[in-house]
Amino acid sequence: MTVGTSGSAAGLVARLRAAFRTGRTRDLDWRTTQLTRLRALLTEHGDELAEALHADLGKSRKEAYRTEIDFTVREIDHTLERLAGWLEPEPAPVPAALAGATAHTVQDPLGVVLVIAPWNYPVQLLLAPLVGALAAGNAVVVKPSELAPTTSAAVARLLPEYLDTETVAVVEGAVPETTALLAERFDHIFYTGNGTVGRIVMAAAAKHLTPVTLELGGKSPAFVDRDTDLRTVASRLVSGKFLNAGQTCVAPDYVLTDPETAAPLAEALAAAVEERFGPDPSASPEYGRIVNGRHFDRLVGLLDSGRTVTGGAHDRSGKYIAPTVLADVSPDAPVMREEIFGPVLPIITVDGLDEAIGFINDRDKPLALYAFTHSPAVRDRLLTETSSGGVGMGLPLAHLTVSDLPFGGVGESGMGNYHGRYSLETFSHRKAVLDTPLG
Ligand code: NAD
Repeated sequence: MTVGTSGSAAGLVARLRAAFRTGRTRDLDWRTTQLTRLRALLTEHGDELAEALHADLGKSRKEAYRTEIDFTVREIDHTLERLAGWLEPEPAPVPAALAGATAHTVQDPLGVVLVIAPWNYPVQLLLAPLVGALAAGNAVVVKPSELAPTTSAAVARLLPEYLDTETVAVVEGAVPETTALLAERFDHIFYTGNGTVGRIVMAAAAKHLTPVTLELGGKSPAFVDRDTDLRTVASRLVSGKFLNAGQTCVAPDYVLTDPETAAPLAEALAAAVEERFGPDPSASPEYGRIVNGRHFDRLVGLLDSGRTVTGGAHDRSGKYIAPTVLADVSPDAPVMREEIFGPVLPIITVDGLDEAIGFINDRDKPLALYAFTHSPAVRDRLLTETSSGGVGMGLPLAHLTVSDLPFGGVGESGMGNYHGRYSLETFSHRKAVLDTPLG
């Protein structure tokens, strides 16, 4: 569907609102049917989506299934298994003065919600929020990213074949289409992307007092303690950092370690890159590409920020940038002034934990914090003295695969969260009910 003018956006939202008001989306059967059909779409068209992801981002089939298609299927299964239980009214005790009355809360659908997704995981980040919006009984408009055009087109064609078209709509497009949508009154807006557009979304939402969830990014640090097995640490850092060529919101952005550990860690990281992607990563089917020329140029501009330990090679025609590790990086270097969002991993040296904590706290609150240490005292201090959306002790990225954990940022890395039951909470209003007998 095309929505290029506010008139057609208004018509779309009015149509979805009218369908929502019939009450059909409240029905548990409707919700489970939509989720089951969405699951069928993913399993029946998984290969087509994987090919689209390869066309847009050079993702390998294995990575496409693991991080996008199967990820979303698991989110659906987790929700389907528990949804009826989650929707049970939750009793609340009443004060003595109301003896005889009962109180409870119910999860009320919000109405018509908007999901705006980015390009880096264009299946997962569009459809996982949709799972929550449908589970909560809403009508939904989803807006895929124009920067992953093959995936956007595939999703726009497939979703209407599987889902209730009266209550679920896909709007493809870029800034004009999104701007037209944002002029309308939604009951919730769920945005994933960068903080600049996050502010535009929030300002548009404020006009209608529409609540927002903002899933943003930032520079997620990884602290490496001196007591660790650097081979294991490096292997895990490389897996997390260079997945999707570093274009992952929770990728470790930079490494903090002490001066004695920095050199052996740099060597271990170079060895881990070679172990994972071979001597020439451009030939590895497991290694992705940069989404477009603009991001390629931006990333190439960051490659001179330190001493190249491994990588640095790049080719604009293939949008290839080798997995790159930089040592001797100054905290003021260009690579430390913005979220990297690409395959460049700088190592910054700090004199111990106090300085590491200070370094993290002097910057915006990150989406994730990673720590590699055996010391309970170090873990405790990092947990209690820093603020981040989530924490991964010993392993990057994996915390977001735990459906029972909320996924979201804090401060500059976002507001609100989702996954599993938290998605239901995000896309519902918890309505308080007091029931007092009339006597
Ligand atoms: P993007 O350019 O695809 O933009 C995201 C969405 O915003 C798109 O649908 C786009 O059409 C829309 N958009 C762009 N400009 C707009 C405007 N002026 N008005 C209204 N809508 C507009 O993706 P991106 O922002 O480059 O994504 C990368 C960022 O997203 C990084 O900062 C990354 O960390 C963050 N991110 C966060 C998460 C998370 O879950 N927290 C996940 C992925 C990416």
